[in-house]
Amino acid sequence: MFSPQTEEKFSKLVSRYPSKRSALIPMLLFAQDEKGPLTGEIVDYVARYLHLTPLEVEEVISFYSMLTKKPRGKFHLQVCTNISCMLRGADKIWERVKEKTGLKPGQVSADGVVSIEEVECMGACTTAPALQVNYDFYENLTVERVDQLLEDLGRRKGPDTSPDSEQMESSPRRRHDAEHPRATRLLTAGMAAKDSRSLENFLAREGYQTAEKVLKSMNADQIIEEVKKSGLRGRGGAGFSTGMKWGFVPRQSPKPKYLVCNADESEPGTCKDRPLLEYDPHQLIEGMIIAARALECHQAYIYIRGEYRYLFNIVSRAVEEAYARGFLGKNIFGSGWNLELATHTGAGAYICGEETALLESLEGKRGYPRIKPPFPAVVGLYGCPTVVNNVETLSAIPHILKNGGEWYAKFGPEKNGGTRLFSVSGHVERPGNYEVPMGTTLRTLIEDFAGGVRQGHQLKAIIPGGSSTPILTADKIDTPLTFEDIAKAGSMLGSGAVIVMDETTCIVNVARVLTRFYAHESCGWCVPCREGTVWMRKIFNRYHDGFGRKEDIDLLDSVAKKILGHTHCPLGDASAMPVISAIKNFRSEFEEHLKLGACPLEKNLVAV
Ligand code: SF4
Repeated sequence: MFSPQTEEKFSKLVSRYPSKRSALIPMLLFAQDEKGPLTGEIVDYVARYLHLTPLEVEEVISFYSMLTKKPRGKFHLQVCTNISCMLRGADKIWERVKEKTGLKPGQVSADGVVSIEEVECMGACTTAPALQVNYDFYENLTVERVDQLLEDLGRRKGPDTSPDSEQMESSPRRRHDAEHPRATRLLTAGMAAKDSRSLENFLAREGYQTAEKVLKSMNADQIIEEVKKSGLRGRGGAGFSTGMKWGFVPRQSPKPKYLVCNADESEPGTCKDRPLLEYDPHQLIEGMIIAARALECHQAYIYIRGEYRYLFNIVSRAVEEAYARGFLGKNIFGSGWNLELATHTGAGAYICGEETALLESLEGKRGYPRIKPPFPAVVGLYGCPTVVNNVETLSAIPHILKNGGEWYAKFGPEKNGGTRLFSVSGHVERPGNYEVPMGTTLRTLIEDFAGGVRQGHQLKAIIPGGSSTPILTADKIDTPLTFEDIAKAGSMLGSGAVIVMDETTCIVNVARVLTRFYAHESCGWCVPCREGTVWMRKIFNRYHDGFGRKEDIDLLDSVAKKILGHTHCPLGDASAMPVISAIKNFRSEFEEHLKLGACPLEKNLVAV
């Protein structure tokens, strides 16, 4: 039914996991890449291949937004209109795409060449506004660039957007890690070189030497102790001590242990793992080798979000290179230690960034979060002890083990060791991913690194840690970027995504767009989240369009507070916090909408 190349991909896939079912999601994506919509025939084939029922395959297809049973054009255009893109004029881009193609969302052109779709965040926040053509990113868009792109596609002159396209991986458009003379480059140190992702370049930077030394000279307790000393806290969002997390894994368990790298970066505003995967994948692999030794585990996975297909290809190639040199596999560096490492692709579901949902997804199921406890350190992947760590967290490990935990800790203030990559997006002169020491102030990051609020405008609001964190007012700009200081200021450090808004921003619209996102991404398991996010979205839509009612402000606040703290996983809280903070800090703006019967600022939501 499939080409020999795709069949080969299938057979490689199933060999990576102890359970065949784990291959389901990547297999469906690869099947879709070749055949288009996932027809009943494909479902039956995949079900037989993996010893599943067709129903088990269908329920997975219906959960993941990148898996589809509907036809698409040869070039499927997905325009992001989530917060960072919205602040940079995405609405204009989306309108232009609809106007020029004459298509409605989901429709395919008569010649089958183009189809269009409005999508949520795709991880191009610092290069917004952005769209994807199939898997390829088009960033820093203007209406003129969109016109040119559509003309090219119409003449079938479009770029090679096949999933394995080399052009996609090497495109100069991808250079989105902003340089700054005062950046503290630890994790980003190697990225200056043109060929930084190559193994040769990594080896020239003493790459894999730390892993070799650690494997030959340190035991698990010594490694964990060093990481504890470093003060490293998870860079994915929760900010839990990495050393402590590793220490929770029961050493005596007879079950296999697993290490999983969470590269499902999906929090709107966040795209800081992208350069780490793109320009320095071997740094991550080295970090995983050391982490695996600390956890005494012999099998690891890197779960990469589906939209980052070109990164899946880049990281998969780096893994192959590491195997070829004996840095992975049996008896690594002649140390007697074994580690198998495989890459895995998601298929478009924000909830899979939550660690237990990610594990469900990695097992080939819908990404429903699990009830905790038990925590993954005890009952994780396939019911075995598992540690899930973020890309940036694991990329920091070689630096800590090379130079010592105390050395790393000194970069930041107490309890906030090291440096961190912050994605600065929105209304700034130089959006980008900047590596700075923990404890740097929001002002330094925004004004110095990101060039300040765009010229001629004033700061109005800041979201300091990704879309799920409370919105701060401009007077909080001198807050240091530590977990505790940002909490004291009324928000959370989260994923390190700093979204900057100037005085032209309608906060009601911001809350509306964020609520739309969470309503879309709710897995539907628990009632407050499933129902609450949808009701908030409905109320916001009518409110923003001028049909608000006097009681809506308190109603929104009340719905959000009924979600907060009453759901099964953090997505519920994530949906509620921006709404509660928007009403608390910008209530007068809500009231003005009511008075005018319209948005007083909407005309300003245009490209920078
Ligand atoms: Fe699913 Fe939302 Fe409940 Fe999380 S809070 S389990 S996303 S319904």
